[in-house]
Amino acid sequence: MHYLPTRIFFADGALQAASVYLPALGKRALLVTGQHSALASGAQADLLMVLNTMQIGYVLYNQVEENPTLETVMSGAKIYQENACDFIIAIGGGSPIDAAKAMSLVVANHLSQEQIYQPALYKTNVPVVAIPTTSGTGTEVTPYAVLTDAAQHKKAGFGSELAYPAISILDPRYTISMSESVTLHTGIDALSHLLEGIYSNKRNALFYPIIFEGIRLIITHLKQAISHPDDLAARTALMHASLYGGLAIAHTSTTLQHSIGYPLTSIYGVPHGLANGIVMQSMMELYYPAVKQELDALFAFLELTKNEFYAWLDSLQMDARLSLSEEFIFCKIPEVISSRNMANNPFEVSAQQIRELYKSLNR
Ligand code: NAP
Ligand code: FE
Repeated sequence: MHYLPTRIFFADGALQAASVYLPALGKRALLVTGQHSALASGAQADLLMVLNTMQIGYVLYNQVEENPTLETVMSGAKIYQENACDFIIAIGGGSPIDAAKAMSLVVANHLSQEQIYQPALYKTNVPVVAIPTTSGTGTEVTPYAVLTDAAQHKKAGFGSELAYPAISILDPRYTISMSESVTLHTGIDALSHLLEGIYSNKRNALFYPIIFEGIRLIITHLKQAISHPDDLAARTALMHASLYGGLAIAHTSTTLQHSIGYPLTSIYGVPHGLANGIVMQSMMELYYPAVKQELDALFAFLELTKNEFYAWLDSLQMDARLSLSEEFIFCKIPEVISSRNMANNPFEVSAQQIRELYKSLNR
């Protein structure tokens, strides 16, 4: 079954095209952002002009941090309720957009913080408009939000059809202000999603054309976007790839590749995409026997060998300079094994394999 209830606008100036759909969402929006990117990208200024023209009021919540916490979701939800908002607009990378998706479910279903991870309690939502400023997560078209439980030092996602944004506005110009490192890490996150669309036991050949093309776009354009940040053609290619990755994982979910990275982020602060990147090669070796036919077809499409792909990954010089403690490995293996994504692996992954993967990351 394939389901995507999101209206997707993708163009330079996509916001203008989407704006006619905003008045139907309500009279006042909660605008959810981080502290810097909504302004730096130019998206917030464009949006405020549109809201003004459409006579839609707004209240700003600009406190979403990287890897948003449950507390942040509750704070935003409180502001939404205090100001009697009708819908939510999120501008930013995956962090503000995921926080907004969770806020929508909290306010619509009167959830407490403890109930956020209980999709069975979600009966409805309030509309979310997503305006990405990174090309990575694809969250603008997925039914997931990834949050951090700060008290438990645990990062985990939830999924619900009610978490799909109502409208997603993709304008590659909003990604030009990304730094070199954010461009690299988010591009690798998108690559990870595309590969996981092949690894997952929910994989479906329907998505292979966009998965293969998305991977080709990243290999062709990622370095150019890093070295020439204002190359709009490269930025557009990466935004397409990120969208394709989102469309793929919306239907296949992510896998061990993501589960193994979450503790690296929650404990060692490794940026999300980098956490995926440093395990990408070992993960492909692990999955290769199970999906050999699919990966061979991918490499034929790319006109690359697997080793040439690894050489390209190596040339990105991703290194999180980790020294993982025995205690970390001991404590986090059960968390990885019990994570939602583990059900999507095409074969059983043992605690010993996860242990070896973590140990291989030590420098
Ligand atoms: P992010 O955490 O939203 O942002 C990373 C950093 O980049 C922040 O400092 C942010 O600034 C900055 N930034 C973002 N856009 C920028 C721009 N255009 N110009 C300048 N700076 C910019 O990064 P992300 O990689 O997009 O999102 C990662 C989160 O999404 C993780 O929590 C991850 O687990 C989650 N994720 C979700 C899904 C899903 O389907 N729901 C899939 C994959 C990953 P500000 O703080 O000012 O915004
Ligand atoms: Fe991701």
